[in-house]
Amino acid sequence: MKKIIVMGAGFAGFSTIEGLSSIRGKTAVTLIDKKQSADFLPLLPDCLGRQINPQYLRCDIEHFCKRLGFRFLRDEVRAVDLVNRAVTTLTGTLEYDYLVIASGSETNFYGNQNIREYAYTLDSADDAVRLSNLLGKEKIDNYIVAGGGYTGIEVVTNLRLYLDKVKRKGSIIIVERAPAILGPLPEWMKDYVTDNLRRLSIEVMVNSTVERIEGGRVFVSARKVFDNTLVIWAAGVKTAGFIQDLKVEKNPQGRIKVDDYLKLNESCFVIGDAAYFSYKNNFLRMAVQFAIFQGRCVAANIINSIKGRKLKKYTPIDFGYIIPMANNNSCGTVFGLNLKGFLPTALHFIMCIYRSRGLRNKFGVIKTLIRRRCTM
Ligand SMILES: Cc1cc2nc3c(=O)[nH]c(=O)nc-3n(C[C@H](O)[C@H](O)[C@H](O)COP(=O)(O)OP(=O)(O)OC[C@H]3O[C@@H](n4cnc5c(N)ncnc54)[C@H](O)[C@@H]3O)c2cc1C
Repeated sequence: MKKIIVMGAGFAGFSTIEGLSSIRGKTAVTLIDKKQSADFLPLLPDCLGRQINPQYLRCDIEHFCKRLGFRFLRDEVRAVDLVNRAVTTLTGTLEYDYLVIASGSETNFYGNQNIREYAYTLDSADDAVRLSNLLGKEKIDNYIVAGGGYTGIEVVTNLRLYLDKVKRKGSIIIVERAPAILGPLPEWMKDYVTDNLRRLSIEVMVNSTVERIEGGRVFVSARKVFDNTLVIWAAGVKTAGFIQDLKVEKNPQGRIKVDDYLKLNESCFVIGDAAYFSYKNNFLRMAVQFAIFQGRCVAANIINSIKGRKLKKYTPIDFGYIIPMANNNSCGTVFGLNLKGFLPTALHFIMCIYRSRGLRNKFGVIKTLIRRRCTM
């Protein structure tokens, strides 16, 4: 019986094992994840502003595996031996015939231990609980979000929504290392977001970095000091530690270069945020839609390989992207159309509800949005 290991129970890993369910009983499939629940990451910023209960973002991995008839191993992968086809976890070593690396990405502190220790992150439902509790309890004067990418923008607008709701004052600042927010995105989008942030009295500090946090005191680019300040770190991601130790071709974020079939070698596939897939002279961005479709493609190709059939190439389908902003002035490009205002906000939530796992979670999110009427 062929042994298949899927590492990581995020969007990519889940869609892979769903795709493998047709060969249940004929193969031994193990899904490994260090966490007990898979969290719906795109709704994390909305837990702060729209006060969606983070419980509605969780999906129990063991329950999901049981339903599909596969084994779940809660463990952390520490190393992969591509030659001897073995995975080492904290508790032992497992051999495989096929391996799918779907371990996503995690916050990158760029080696700054001080920031790692004192800044908050928003990478999991647990993080959202921690931050929501803190916002409810502490009186904070300044809220700094490090990183002016999609996540940073979403977070600052949700912070403003929260402070307005609880009728509390506070400065909100984005600190971005580059000369502009939203890096490679089109100019019209950057202008639209910048205008919206101005309207929400959110300051943008470009060419700046958060250098040190001492108690509630934050030092930004050795020029400015903020007292009684909370820092949320959204300044970049990297792949899991064991990937960094693999001697294979990677991009600067540590994403593994894969071929047209999402293969690293004959027995190992890499998908989702962990993979670096060349597309139209560039590479695919990290996004839920690609993770899900890559998982399906790899499941089909493992089945093809077992049955001795030809593998299918992976062809990305890009539906577009949205920058959701909590005052409903979102923007994005969907099916090639540039959208602004409420429509992209609505599309963001429709996508999230559609892709959330379990009726309890879907209805929980819908109920919260109706109660809060999606307004500021
Ligand atoms: C705040 C936020 C908002 C976002 N908003 C959007 C959005 O609106 N739209 C969009 O398309 N994308 C969004 N993204 C990005 C999107 O969530 C990712 O692209 C997507 O989750 C990637 O899926 P994945 O399966 O590759 O990885 P993940 O979903 O990150 O899953 C990886 C899994 O691997 C596990 N894992 C990692 N290392 C190990 C190890 N060593 N051993 C065992 N298990 C391990 C992790 O516990 C995790 O469960 C957002 C991300 C964040 C953080």
